Amino acid sequence: MKKVLTIGEILVEIVATTKGHGFRSAQPLVGPFPSGAPAIFIDQLGKLGTPCAIVSRVGDDDFGQLNIERLRADGVDVSGISIAPGECTGSAFVRYREDGSRAFIFNIQHSACGQISRTAASEKLVDHCDHLHVMGSALSAPGLRGMIIDAAEKIKARGGSLSLDPNLRPEILNRPGLRPALERILSMTDLFMPSGDEVFLFSDSRDEAAAIQDLLRRGIRSIVVKRGSEGASLFENGERYDASPMQVTETDPTGAGDSFGGAFLSFWLAGASAQMALRYANAAGARAVTQLGPMEGTSSRAELDNFLHALED
Ligand code: ATP
Ligand code: MG
Repeated sequence: MKKVLTIGEILVEIVATTKGHGFRSAQPLVGPFPSGAPAIFIDQLGKLGTPCAIVSRVGDDDFGQLNIERLRADGVDVSGISIAPGECTGSAFVRYREDGSRAFIFNIQHSACGQISRTAASEKLVDHCDHLHVMGSALSAPGLRGMIIDAAEKIKARGGSLSLDPNLRPEILNRPGLRPALERILSMTDLFMPSGDEVFLFSDSRDEAAAIQDLLRRGIRSIVVKRGSEGASLFENGERYDASPMQVTETDPTGAGDSFGGAFLSFWLAGASAQMALRYANAAGARAVTQLGPMEGTSSRAELDNFLHALED
């Protein structure tokens, strides 16, 4: 079986239990929950039994251990996670507003995962993995760009494959050097998984069908568009497949895209049909939003089967 590698941030997330604007008054909080988009993504692959690993960096603290233990328990190879003495694991505080938008306070850049760099263990993983998943959020860290592009070139040169989830807020896009790095990664991408307006990131068109055609012309094999509570669509081999949203009560939407993506990739790499990969990914995303905590909603195959059974009957 192919082994998947991702490189990027590991965080804990601490969630306000009341809705409202930000953190300027004392709040009841719940957490720490394991988090970080690449970590949630790889955890979902591990839970589905796809061989996988993450290269990251945590502090020598409980937040780091919480993440390492969760990822290991869910089947992820954690040999590429460095533990940095005297540093702190990254964190994010999140509070939902009444309209569903989120206020974040991030401690990433100056945390242990802000200093991810090559190690003997990371090089070994790059040499042995067959697929690289790139999270745009990881590319936004200047120090990581070269390492990720280098890993992508090595894995592709050996006949491996590459997936990209832009996972980028528009205000980050103009950071120096980010665009060229994204373009370089896109030129090597086999599976592209944008969400909402990210489909227009690499096209001058404002029409979705035209933007998809632009992307396919670049040689991307499969494109999955995530549409939140509207479901998802897959464009592959000249066909379009749509998944209608599963009816769920949304408790915490953070991490839905990462759970969806991890599940889709797991089925896609295993050679499942387009419909099957999309159906399971749609279920993984929907199930993720029902759980409080970004990584709490990743699913095993049995959990997805039960969930599909209960909701499709
Ligand atoms: P994030 O980056 O916050 O993790 P995203 O924007 O990348 O998320 P979404 O489109 O929000 O990804 O969610 C991914 C998928 O999960 C959707 O395409 C859909 O299949 C499923 N999903 C998300 N929210 C819901 C919901 N409220 N009801 C049903 N399905 C949902
Ligand atoms: Mg996303």
